[in-house]
Parts: sequence; structure tokens; C-alpha cells
Amino acid sequence: MAAVRSSGVDWTHYSGNAWIGCTEAGPGCSACYARAMMADRLRRVEWGPGKARLQVKGFAQKVRKANRESLKAGERRRFFINPHADLFDNEVPNNWRHEVFEIMKAAGTLDFILVTKRIGNAARMLPDDWGYGYTNAWLMATMVNQREVDRDMPKLERIPAIVKGLSIEPILGEIDLSAYLHLLDWVIIGGQSAQIGGAAPVKAEHRWVRKLIDQCLAAGVAVYFKQWGTGDGIRGGHLIDGAEIRQFPLRGIRRCLGCGCHDLHACISPAGNCHWSTETQCSVCQMRAMMAG
Ligand code: SF4
Repeated sequence: MAAVRSSGVDWTHYSGNAWIGCTEAGPGCSACYARAMMADRLRRVEWGPGKARLQVKGFAQKVRKANRESLKAGERRRFFINPHADLFDNEVPNNWRHEVFEIMKAAGTLDFILVTKRIGNAARMLPDDWGYGYTNAWLMATMVNQREVDRDMPKLERIPAIVKGLSIEPILGEIDLSAYLHLLDWVIIGGQSAQIGGAAPVKAEHRWVRKLIDQCLAAGVAVYFKQWGTGDGIRGGHLIDGAEIRQFPLRGIRRCLGCGCHDLHACISPAGNCHWSTETQCSVCQMRAMMAG
């Protein structure tokens, strides 16, 4: 990871909360680090249904600063939104969400990573101008076992997004992705870590992780193995069979929403983003559409 990283999360350069607070949404929340830190340790909010979420002043400034830094450096950088909340939380007023989308649209040098355990809410909570997906928004759904994958991948499939991903954090069992790999650009895998007040962590098994990595590598899907979780060392390390597997969806290249190829470049320069950064279809699809029309 580049030295610019200002987030505790390994796979992003920046992270920031538009609000804090959430409610557990499934087995993947059983040792929630956000709750452990923000509710149990720092007591900034109460956690759970009916508890007020806390809007964070300074979120917009943080995004703008990250955007300026990225532009100055001449590279796209990743920004993880809401590490201590869920963007598609039912208990958050829609105008809070819409403020976030407006802030995202104004920060074209950042790729925003939206991770949710509530992918079923996304279709009705996305803004009206989402269209094929904002060109700088990566939509990641968290699923932690085969039951959730089979239940939620069809929901992720129905939502357009320039980059679509699956976060298997924490991994709670053996998962077979073979029926879904064609839908994915990125898979993040991580073992569960113990949290004060949380349930006993599930230890990620080598064969679970190995199988997912091998499936992704064979299919050409970028895969990022973040950590073993509770085990040896603070987070259990992140090597598997002596190797570091930490890939990203191709830098500056995005999925064409016409044919699914990854031939949409999005170069930036101090003068601004290139023509293609706001397009959603590759040149071949655009040409076909012109000839057909
Ligand atoms: S959805 Fe995320 S932030 Fe919310 S309780 Fe679950 S793990 Fe915690």
C-alpha cells in the first residue's frame, strides 16, 4: 500500500464516516469492530435498533482534502465510506445518504468503496441519478457464508455498478463462488478478529481461504486476502502458503456496462479527468450503438 494511506483498513488509502452507529444485520456482525470501538470503548453512540446514529461533522472536508491530494499526486485513490456504519442502514434518513452521494460526485479523483451488509436495501436507497452506477463508486456487498452468498448475490447482480465486489469479512465457513465469479471484479477475504464484548471469533480455515483465492485467480477476478484474524500475532498475519495475495481491480480501468469487458480507462491529470472517466461503455459498444442508431 502506498505511503499515503491514512486509514487503518489495509485495502484503502482513505476512510471516513459520514455517520456512526448501526444495528447487527447477521452472523458477520457478531464481533463488530465498529461497535467495540465506537459504542463499547469510546461510548460515542449507542448501538442497535432505535438508537440514534451520529452524523460526523467534517466528513465532506475530509473527502475534499483526499480528492485534492489524489489530484496533486496524479493518481486515483480509494476512499472507504462508513467503516463504522452501513450506508444502507434502514434507520438513517435518506437525506443523510443523499448528502454522501453528492459529496462523492464532486470528488472525481477518488474511487469510493461502498461496503454494505444490506445489499437488499441498495436498489431503493440509491439516488435517482445512479444510472449505470457512478463512475467513481465501487459497490461491495458483504456475505460471510454460503447461505448469504446464495441469498444475496442475485441482489448484487441486479444493481449496476462500475466495479462490483464481494467482501467476505469475516469468513465464517466454506464458500463456493463458482456460480457467481462472472459477476465480480473484486473479492476481499478476511478472518474474524476477537472484539471486547463480541462473540468468540470463528477461526478462518486454510482450506476455506485457499479455495476462494484459487477460484478468483482462475477466473481473473482480483482477490485480496486481508488477514487470518485471531490466531498468530495481532491479526493473525496475511500470508497464505508463504505468499501475499493482495490484488485490486485494475487501476484506472473499469467494467464496460455494455459488454462487460474491462476496457474503460479513467486517466486523470492535474488538468482534470479524461473523457472516458465519465463514460459507462467501451469504445466498441459506443460504436455499435452509433451504427445501430
Ligand atoms: S453492519 Fe457492519 S457496522 Fe453494522 S453492526 Fe454489522 S459489522 Fe457492525
